Amino acid sequence: MRVLLLYPVFPKSFWSFEKALELANRKALIPPLGIITVAAILPQEWEFRLVDRNVEPLTEADWEWAELVILSAMIVQKDDFLTQIREAKRRGKQVAVGGPYATALPHEATAAGADFLILDEGEITLPQFVEAIQRGDKQGTFRATEKPDVTITPVPRFDLLKFSAYDNMSVQFSRGCPFQCEFCDIIVLYGRKPRTKAPEQILAELDALYKLGWRGGIFMVDDNFIGNKRNVKLMLKELKVWQKEHRYPFGFFTEASVDLADDAELMDLMLDCNFGSVFLGIETPDEDSLSLTKKFQNTRSPLTEAVERINRAGLRVLAGFIIGFDGEKAGAGDRIVRFVEQTAIPAALFSMLQALPDTALWHRLKKEGRLRDDNVAGNQTSLLNFVPTRPVEEIAREYLTAFSTLYDAEQYLDRTYRHFIHMGAPHCQSPFRMPQLGELKALCLLSWRQGVVRKTRWKFWRYLFSLLKNNPGVWNRYLSTCAYAEHFIEFRQIVEQQIESQLQVFLAEEERQKQKQKQEQAIAS
Ligand code: SF4
Repeated sequence: MRVLLLYPVFPKSFWSFEKALELANRKALIPPLGIITVAAILPQEWEFRLVDRNVEPLTEADWEWAELVILSAMIVQKDDFLTQIREAKRRGKQVAVGGPYATALPHEATAAGADFLILDEGEITLPQFVEAIQRGDKQGTFRATEKPDVTITPVPRFDLLKFSAYDNMSVQFSRGCPFQCEFCDIIVLYGRKPRTKAPEQILAELDALYKLGWRGGIFMVDDNFIGNKRNVKLMLKELKVWQKEHRYPFGFFTEASVDLADDAELMDLMLDCNFGSVFLGIETPDEDSLSLTKKFQNTRSPLTEAVERINRAGLRVLAGFIIGFDGEKAGAGDRIVRFVEQTAIPAALFSMLQALPDTALWHRLKKEGRLRDDNVAGNQTSLLNFVPTRPVEEIAREYLTAFSTLYDAEQYLDRTYRHFIHMGAPHCQSPFRMPQLGELKALCLLSWRQGVVRKTRWKFWRYLFSLLKNNPGVWNRYLSTCAYAEHFIEFRQIVEQQIESQLQVFLAEEERQKQKQKQEQAIAS
């Protein structure tokens, strides 16, 4: 069986980092880990060809070669996902789909023409699909009522990736999260009991990447890396030895809940393994909103102190923020900006609340008749998809102002400097290696754009020299964080244009509805 694995295009988003990736001569931040794990679970006598449409074109030769097309996508990729299903069907191919989007909204994949729906987690449903193919079935839907044991998950087929296209590799240690945030789809997809791989599995994955020649960043894609603290510590103790023996070929980053700040041993272990940054879901500094959305873990101790502790330990903090919670008072956008400035978090992912399919929030809003439509975009350029408790226009305007303030070039640079000047020194030092041509080119381009052309040029150099003098272990991380500004400054304009145009359509529709009601009342009276 010749299988074409297709990974759809991501629209521009907070995470797409085009401008920063362009500097580094890379096409995407991370590879599609899910679909190369699918390839490892399917029969290994099948032939696989991976086309990640974010890094390379899909050719006629690829289509002709394929006997079966398998696609996987997240909600944000849905436009290209549905287009490629239609393209495959137009060419008479059998199409199987899976991943978070198909699992959440399977009817949309069916409507586009998919033959096989491989839903939930593949360790259970892929073998059912293989049996169906071997029986000669032409279509089918495969679901799992249980969550699989991830200690049986094989090493992903990293060999299918074109390494030079990616800025980082990715691996997964755990699935699931013990918390209960109302808006979260992770606990719907993967459950609230974190399931972890065995330490030797992770080491086998790292061995595979090492042997294939990868050196550099690795994203530990877990939605909450510290969901099972006991198991993560056991794994990190072994990873620490592996990294030392291999002379620190990899630097890691991940996502974790804020209670990381309360566990000094865990942070130390992460730093000993060469973790450099962590993404925290802070969401909002408003305690009422955090309680209402059941993010209780963020209300237990002051969030500013938690961020400071993690930063001072030596981890760069990235954080997510949301506006539009029920009961939120006017000025939430300003409060988020103040919090980000106070904690000096350089990169703050900021979105308007979206009710994702099947989440507790989605079900509550549906019951209350407040879901606006089923069309969820799931990114930072979309208006809320439900009726909030304060006017949509007020929330959208606060969002635009806050986004624009956060990603003003000077404010971003100031925060970046304050973040790194207070940061703890790294625990590990990778051996010196000659910089590659691409890295030198990236450094020259960054120095030109931010150190010569932009009006913040003096600050850029002043901050760099101050870091070299006062906290010399972090200067290179300061520069790479500065590089992200290239993306954020451009993305700020995209957010502004897209939200503004959606807002105009929304307000026009609201006005039309008001006029209609008035006319109906006039006729009735
Ligand atoms: S902490 Fe993060 S992953 Fe866990 S339930 Fe909350 S939003 Fe989801």
